[in-house]
Amino acid sequence: MDSIEENEFVRMKRGLSWIDLKESLNMEGCPVCNTMSRSIDKYFQFLLYEYALDASVHKKMLASFGMCNAHTYLLQEAEANLKSDGLNISVLYETLFQKEEKLLAKIGQKELNESNKHFMNFGKKRDFAAYKKEILTELIAKGICPGCLHQDESESYCTHVILRLCKDEEFRNKYETEKILLCRRHFLFMINETENKEMIDYFVNEQRKKISRLHELLSGFIEKHDYRLKGRMLEEEKKSWEKALEYFGSKKNIDRDGYNDLLIQ
Ligand SMILES: [Zn+2]
Ligand SMILES: [Zn+2]
Repeated sequence: MDSIEENEFVRMKRGLSWIDLKESLNMEGCPVCNTMSRSIDKYFQFLLYEYALDASVHKKMLASFGMCNAHTYLLQEAEANLKSDGLNISVLYETLFQKEEKLLAKIGQKELNESNKHFMNFGKKRDFAAYKKEILTELIAKGICPGCLHQDESESYCTHVILRLCKDEEFRNKYETEKILLCRRHFLFMINETENKEMIDYFVNEQRKKISRLHELLSGFIEKHDYRLKGRMLEEEKKSWEKALEYFGSKKNIDRDGYNDLLIQ
């Protein structure tokens, strides 16, 4: 590592991004998922508390007809955490009703144009399919959930902070501990964003070590259900199935298919 690189690490570690990442590296599991979980909580708190009347927020909400399923209920939790009776959510969703009512009125007026030259029922079916398609084209949301849009940025930002610091000693010491394990989605995204083979080697190597250790713990957990071995079960083995779930499925409310595309060229 040269001194320019070292200076770059010192500079980066003065910023908020390192403080945030360090917090995730002091927790268990996937650091990208952990950072994203905290980030969406903060975003929803701002959204409800300060931006429930903001025009750009309403524009996004209208384009997507509200949030995706995971973010809908996360938003509800955020509202409860603010000790609100639901007023912020009501303000945020009220404008969606105007748009929905307008749309329903519009499609209610659409005619089914059946042609007269039907041979058997074939033509009729085609007309009806075209009519349904026209209605659904109007109804389908044209925008992406604002929560997902936020997570797209957060996922990408956190991954790049890790990549920029991945040769830093303090980062490595924390990252290489057993309790840290990138979920499968974020491992793939990390590989997707690397710029050289050295980085790929580092992350693949770490992942191999951690995965084989987790496999060992999970096998131990299963084996020690045998009554003769019961007393010998390790605490880590008892938690291994939850870690396996997180590895393959990512953390709760973080989409296991991610928010950014994997661009394999
Ligand atoms: Zn993750
Ligand atoms: Zn969403």
